[in-house]
Amino acid sequence: MRRISTKLVLAVLAAVVLPFVAFMFFINYQMEVRLTEDVVRQSLQGLVQDLAGQIDRFVDERRQNVAQWSESAMIVFALDNYESHKGIVRADPERASWDADALDRWATTRELSVDLKRDWDFVIHQTRDFDRIVEVTGVYDLILLVAPDGRPVTCNSRLPDGQPIGREYLEFLFGYDFTAEPWFGRAIEGEASQLDHHASRFRAREYGPGELAHNYHIGFSTPVRNQRGEVIGVLFALVNWHHVQGLIESRVVKEYFRGLVTEDRDPSPYAWIWRSDADTIIGHPREDLYYESVSNHVGLPELTRAVLEDDDGAGSYPEYLFAGEWKNAAFKRTAEPEDGGFYWVVGLGIDNDDIYATSTELRNLLLGGTAIVLLMAILWTMVIARRTTEPIRELQRSTRRVAGGELDAQIDIRSRDELGELARDFNQMTAELKEQRGQLIKAEKDAAWREMAKQIAHDIKNPLTPIQLSLDLVERARREKNPGYDEILERTLDLIGRQVTNLREIASDFYEFTGGRRPEPQAIELGGLLDEVLRLHDAWAVDLGVDVRREGPGGMVYADPGKLRRVFGNLVSNALQAMPEGGELRVEVAPAAGSERIRVRIRDTGVGIPEEAREHLFEPYFTTRGEGTGLGLAIARRVIEELGGAIDLRSAEDGDGGTVVEVQLPTHRETA
Ligand code: ADP
Ligand code: MG
Repeated sequence: MRRISTKLVLAVLAAVVLPFVAFMFFINYQMEVRLTEDVVRQSLQGLVQDLAGQIDRFVDERRQNVAQWSESAMIVFALDNYESHKGIVRADPERASWDADALDRWATTRELSVDLKRDWDFVIHQTRDFDRIVEVTGVYDLILLVAPDGRPVTCNSRLPDGQPIGREYLEFLFGYDFTAEPWFGRAIEGEASQLDHHASRFRAREYGPGELAHNYHIGFSTPVRNQRGEVIGVLFALVNWHHVQGLIESRVVKEYFRGLVTEDRDPSPYAWIWRSDADTIIGHPREDLYYESVSNHVGLPELTRAVLEDDDGAGSYPEYLFAGEWKNAAFKRTAEPEDGGFYWVVGLGIDNDDIYATSTELRNLLLGGTAIVLLMAILWTMVIARRTTEPIRELQRSTRRVAGGELDAQIDIRSRDELGELARDFNQMTAELKEQRGQLIKAEKDAAWREMAKQIAHDIKNPLTPIQLSLDLVERARREKNPGYDEILERTLDLIGRQVTNLREIASDFYEFTGGRRPEPQAIELGGLLDEVLRLHDAWAVDLGVDVRREGPGGMVYADPGKLRRVFGNLVSNALQAMPEGGELRVEVAPAAGSERIRVRIRDTGVGIPEEAREHLFEPYFTTRGEGTGLGLAIARRVIEELGGAIDLRSAEDGDGGTVVEVQLPTHRETA
């Protein structure tokens, strides 16, 4: 978070990435919800209704066909004639009879013996009619006309594929007593009926795996009435189930959802038919599931329940898991029995994977696109941030250089934006700063020189005034031939001598302050040096009534003895000057506790340090005394610090007041 460029990148992330990701989630959710709820479920329901409608129409057409034929005059005529010729044949054993054998011969050769032709032409005519229907419609395996005594009159002689119906089969049919069939009984009673999906015992062939649907049929039976309305026979038709199966397996079911999946995949949707119990499978792409129970064998009782609990015959199944796939499905009941239907349940399901295939694809596209866009956004931001902050960093570097005293630091930024302006201002500022600094230094130098000159003039004038006055006095005494002239001269010479000494002191103070001569350091015993200094001030101390005492074991330092003598001389002078009424001066020289240093403590019982003077003591020219130069402590500090030591001045805390000056100097190791 320290760098502007990092902040910029984070800002872009927060401003672009977060909303984008949130938006993506929203879109993704919308796609899933809309696709399942709005598009797929509706489509499934629409399509399954369409399928159920087709099945209804198919069944309805078959039933109507059979009903229509039963009313055909030809059939009535055939039945009437069959009855009468049956009687004739029975009465006259010479005459040929109509049976399975005769029908089979006709079916294979399309020829009838002259004998047969004479009596059974009307039956053959009807047979030919049935054949034509079978051939044209292609959905009937059997159209059978049965006499009231339960014996077949005739049936189609060929199957939809054009093959003859087969002698064995015909023998079975002609030998069968149809009065045993419930549908026959009902038809004789005058009632049409229809048989649900079943494996009929009257089927002509047995089909193997892959064609199992062919083994199943739905059946229709209807009474045949004469003009007086009496039932004179029964018409029965078997419709092969694979036509219904064909409806649910039509390509439309898959093609309808083609758009959902990618080109290389087949859409998952498939349809099925359950019996009216909503549990027994009678139509399914997997024919091996025929007659399995949905709730037991397939293990989806919730689907059966959903249909049974539904009361308008159409709806959606709950989402369910089958064969490892989550699926959505819709169902629709076919027509109820009173409307001529079977009340089957037609279902249509689709894998959720298919539903989401498109949305997943779109989402991946969106994700990929977003990732690329964001990556580019971040990269660009980083580049821009770098380019934006580079001038700032350049500015920072230059500012540091200026702060470090390099006043002619210039920034080389040529951008035309605010940063460029800032750089120009900065360059101008440093240029001005440099000029002002030059002026300031010159002004300071001038002021320093003026101050120095003033100080020197003042300090020199002080001793010169008494010299001047004394000389005037001597001159007058000489002119007036004063008898005490000699004495006056002697006093004057003495005064001039002292003032000259004073002047030399002042001059050497200034000399020392400007740096003085080159130091010539040597090993010095500090105790001895201080004894020497104190001896020089002995007379003065006695004069003032100051009791001087030197304490401590002393110690070795490495320094220029002349300079050190001057420093300590000054400190002792200061102390004596602070005690005009007498007092006590203690000078202690001893190794400082716990360090490699020697400590000199000069303690007086004088006037102490005035509060207002405290922080100015070491400034050059600072003095509270009329004839002082104010250079003593300034020189002392410089000399001591150049030796690696330290000096400090403070009021004595105990007893009689006064001042303590403490000087610390490094011990000289070799000789110590
Ligand atoms: P000067 O002696 O010429 O005044 P210094 O630099 O030696 O200059 O001292 C500066 C001032 O510090 C003195 O004028 C005095 O006011 C104060 N000062 C220094 N030593 C002492 C001391 N021992 N007691 C009290 N005041 C002191
Ligand atoms: Mg002094």
